[in-house]
Amino acid sequence: VSRAPAVEIVAIGDELLLGDTIDTNGPWLGDRLAQEGILVSRRTVVGDQAQAIRSGVADALARTGTVVCCGGLGPTQDDLTRPVVAALYGVPLEVDAAWVEVMRERFEKRGLRMPASNVVQAEVPRGGTLFPNDVGTAPGLALHDDALGTTVLLPGVPGELRWLTEHHVLGYLRTRLPRGRGPVLRRVLRTTGIAESALAERIADIVTSIAPLGIAFLPVGIGIDLRVTSWGELPENEAVAALQRAEDRLRERLGPVLYGTGRADLAALVGETLRSRGFTVATAESCTGGLLAKRLTDAAGSSDYVIGGIVAYSNEAKQRLLGVPEALLREHGAVSEPVARAMLEGARRTTNADCALSITGIAGPGGGSSEKPVGTVWIGTAVREQADVRLHRLVGSRAEIRERSAQAALRMLLDQLNAGAS
Ligand code: ATP
Repeated sequence: VSRAPAVEIVAIGDELLLGDTIDTNGPWLGDRLAQEGILVSRRTVVGDQAQAIRSGVADALARTGTVVCCGGLGPTQDDLTRPVVAALYGVPLEVDAAWVEVMRERFEKRGLRMPASNVVQAEVPRGGTLFPNDVGTAPGLALHDDALGTTVLLPGVPGELRWLTEHHVLGYLRTRLPRGRGPVLRRVLRTTGIAESALAERIADIVTSIAPLGIAFLPVGIGIDLRVTSWGELPENEAVAALQRAEDRLRERLGPVLYGTGRADLAALVGETLRSRGFTVATAESCTGGLLAKRLTDAAGSSDYVIGGIVAYSNEAKQRLLGVPEALLREHGAVSEPVARAMLEGARRTTNADCALSITGIAGPGGGSSEKPVGTVWIGTAVREQADVRLHRLVGSRAEIRERSAQAALRMLLDQLNAGAS
């Protein structure tokens, strides 16, 4: 049993190296080809110099025998991909008269004369294949040689590349590449509230026993995503079933730590849970400055359960807006358990919400002390009279600590709701 057949991508263009354009063609091709059971094993970015293009393509061909290039098929001097790759294959370029006509007609329809420079876009390496482009002037091209392998050339304009891939290139590659057993399929399972190492320990036996599937750990700031992948060794129906079995085992093992699949959002899940219980919620935030309220209200329809949020950043605001007693602030400081608890009560009292969340912490980079270092965050959650207030010690930049604080608060409230608090 072997993995899906592999190809390499060579993205061509100085703009990609200068950072003026982000390579979106490579990621798109990687995903699209995976669906067809073709793996991209490497992606190279080269500038608009003949030597760079030539060695980029030659090296990639030497490794996999199949390469998809994008970019540099335009009509201008700096578009070198076509002649350079033809030279690599040792074949001349020949003008495809039919394509010249297609281009000429398109210009004429718009009342324009085709510039002579466009003729190079009808040049095809001898023995090569032309893929007609319905959405632009540069056709796709393919060259094959038993010694070198196969090279597909596509224009860099993303819409044209995608159109040509869907209409011509996938079919062409299927006839050229050995048939894999199935598509490369993956499923993302989202966890939060557990460290990567602890997560790895908890599922170590599952990781080693689900071959040929693989599991990758992807830290995403607000948690660890697990990506379970079938790398093309299994036919589609078996892969789908194996992914489902893996998901079931991981869900059973991890319980509520695993909160969803794909792009699942913990705030949306909290919202659904609140809705199903007929509960309303309010927030009292200090260091997150409204982020928690933002997360809760990102979901359309959240007005069904979100009453509102209070951002009480200064001590004075904590007293005035949330009724936190001055004595508590003086005695314990704003970042403390009693203040988080008083903020929680204040949020419930001022809004009449069933549930509340409060956050008070030190997001940094300044403001920490040995007793309360940056990342010290007190988080409170309440479901009716039942309150839970906990100390979190978070790491990361200011932005990360704020994101992680909001996520931890949502995690706490969800756990409390699931524990059956009423
Ligand atoms: P055309 O023949 O239509 O001019 P081309 O093959 O010459 O296309 P380029 O000139 O390399 O393509 O790029 C055309 C446009 O596509 C540019 O705006 C460029 O920024 C964009 N582009 C090129 N390569 C990529 C890429 N890998 N990802 C996203 N955009 C890209």
